[in-house]
Amino acid sequence: MKRAMLAGLSLILCIAFCSCADRQQSGTDAPSSVAPAQSEPAPDKSPVNSEPAQSEAAPNEAEPEAEAVTYPFEDDEGRVHHQIYINGELTETDHDAYTYPDEPKGAYYPIVEMLEHLGVECLFDEHLQTLTTRINGQIITCKSDNNDIVVGKTTLRGTAPEYIDGCFYVPSYTFMQLLDATVDFTSDRSSVTMTTDMVIDPDTSGTEGLSISPEAVTALGKQHYSGAEACPACGGTGKSICTACSGTGSVTQFSQSRDPITGQMTIKNARAFCSRCSGSGRTTCSPCGGSGKR
Ligand SMILES: [Zn+2]
Ligand SMILES: [Zn+2]
Repeated sequence: MKRAMLAGLSLILCIAFCSCADRQQSGTDAPSSVAPAQSEPAPDKSPVNSEPAQSEAAPNEAEPEAEAVTYPFEDDEGRVHHQIYINGELTETDHDAYTYPDEPKGAYYPIVEMLEHLGVECLFDEHLQTLTTRINGQIITCKSDNNDIVVGKTTLRGTAPEYIDGCFYVPSYTFMQLLDATVDFTSDRSSVTMTTDMVIDPDTSGTEGLSISPEAVTALGKQHYSGAEACPACGGTGKSICTACSGTGSVTQFSQSRDPITGQMTIKNARAFCSRCSGSGRTTCSPCGGSGKR
């Protein structure tokens, strides 16, 4: 969704910029070099005249224009992407849910963004490659090299979580266990749905009271507080590792383009700055609000 909005926005900006530049050009230059339709003054009064500027704005005619993807789609690594509905609401996430064509019932969900939508933040420890959070007092742990998700004293066995490009994805039954949720697909399979009635208590949920490893603290930078005074979640640095990208600073964005001759759709991916941390890989520590103090 965010991608679609961004693509739309950049298109609008592009059009705005080009028509602006065009206006400026016709104001200062002799209109001889410009196509007749565009040399008309005051193009903004006539939407017909501004059309040519718009088509001229297409960056490269040799290359088919990229557009927002249509769900579901399969990427070049064989994952079928789905949008996400949480409690009936289409949720904007940087990472899609996905299934594998061989096992179309088993969807994987980006756990950080799913829980954040429910008001629960997570803590990522770069050194341990571990994601942790609490829901109603139960600590949930995912490790990038481990097949199990641990909830309190229970280990959810079965399908392992996947760690792809700095994002933890968990199988749907994780939410059935964790949140007593029901999971399904929309009828056109463009989206997965997750519905839960569970009331999440903010006092016993989230990152407050969780701690990261000393090695991760070193990676975060200067400690403003140490020892008992330091916030355990950030080791006194006031910073945390961005959970949306696991500190990598980037996310994969997908777009599609249609071959003008064959009409075939191709999915392209590109790395983009993580929207959460603007590419820095670091965010403000939530329990201490960035002060570093316990
Ligand atoms: Zn990030
Ligand atoms: Zn802190």
